[in-house]
Amino acid sequence: MKNSTFKNLRDFPSSQLRRNYLEDNLKIKLSHIAQFSFDEAKLIGKNIENLIGATQIPLGIAGPINIQGQKYFIPLATTEGALVASINRGMKAINLSVGVDVNMELVGISRGPVFKTSGIKHSQKVKAWIKSHFLELNELATQTSLHIKLLKVDFESFGKNLFVRFSYDTKDAMGMNMVTIATLEIVKEIEQKCQVSCVSLAGNFDIDKKPAWLNFINGRGRKVWAEVVIKKEVVKQVLKTTPEKIAEIVYRKCLLGSIASGSLGFNAHFANIIAAIFIATGQDLAQVVEGSLGVTTAEELENGDLYFSIYLPSLEIGTVGGGTKLPSQNEALKILGVEGEGKADEFAKIIAATTLAGELSLIASLAEGTLASAHQKYGRGKL
Ligand code: NAP
Repeated sequence: MKNSTFKNLRDFPSSQLRRNYLEDNLKIKLSHIAQFSFDEAKLIGKNIENLIGATQIPLGIAGPINIQGQKYFIPLATTEGALVASINRGMKAINLSVGVDVNMELVGISRGPVFKTSGIKHSQKVKAWIKSHFLELNELATQTSLHIKLLKVDFESFGKNLFVRFSYDTKDAMGMNMVTIATLEIVKEIEQKCQVSCVSLAGNFDIDKKPAWLNFINGRGRKVWAEVVIKKEVVKQVLKTTPEKIAEIVYRKCLLGSIASGSLGFNAHFANIIAAIFIATGQDLAQVVEGSLGVTTAEELENGDLYFSIYLPSLEIGTVGGGTKLPSQNEALKILGVEGEGKADEFAKIIAATTLAGELSLIASLAEGTLASAHQKYGRGKL
């Protein structure tokens, strides 16, 4: 752009005028970005600023997948050819067995402020005060929302720094706005009662949108597990390999390969499945970082069948709030049958089961040596 006196992008009253301004100045057409069906007035001040349109991401469907006797179709938004087909193949193998078994534990979403204290003794004093006033602090949190409860408080301190990790149950919302508002009230009380100042409401002890062992070990949001036993005949017919080979790939790739590279993920590609579901259903995309932490295990059983499992320690999701109300994202939640209140636990379990399906199929492709040819076929349009 040659013109050095740009208009302030905030000053345009509509996405169309803002887009026209860009089109005129950049001498380009934004005819695809211009196409969307949501009501832009409902998004402003909530989901986006300086709106110019929408990015279209292809949405595929996999399934149904049998999760503890329930059947689900899974919407997946991606531009990676072969991903939906591969997840679908994993689901086929699962359905020909007894389906996936899943388990879930609420850990809570966290906000972790950092306080500047006068030293070690002051940090210990503040810590002791917070511990002994847990119920009052929870009371303050519940005054900010009808759907929040303080679950636990963890601490770390060194030098003149005290880090406090407040973990909350935020019901069906992922909860980051809720816990930020609640923690602000708690922090004001701590500052007043303990003569200490909070340097940052978010002190990276939360820890949000960054890969961290703390979230891996303690969990954040929800911990979820999924497991399946697949008959050796199904492994052969559908996955074109053997339980022994799958177990070996998991051991050498997901465990030893991850050690060799210092990876925080001991899996093949959780991020692929997590990202595709997060995009489709209006989750916070930056939290794919934590959502993709986790472990894959596989064993050949004594009877020759395959035991296969995945564990996601830090799945941060919601079925209300954030981007879940956007129309296409809301429709995707409806496909899953988890739109609205009382559904977040079920949603977390579905994500775990789908992750298992995707993981199983990719590892089978590596075992059978067809990873490159599958991407050649589906990812390069050579069907
Ligand atoms: P939110 O949309 O800000 O809040 C959720 C709202 O849903 C609450 O106001 C709650 O009402 C209401 N609600 C109704 N029924 C509910 C139910 N059954 N369970 C839970 N809540 C229910 O969303 P959020 O989940 O707190 O935050 C998600 C957003 O935060 C995302 O857009 C994300 O990108 C963003 N984010 C913010 C930060 C930050 O630092 N603020 C950090 C990361 C991400 P009541 O409170 O009135 O009860």
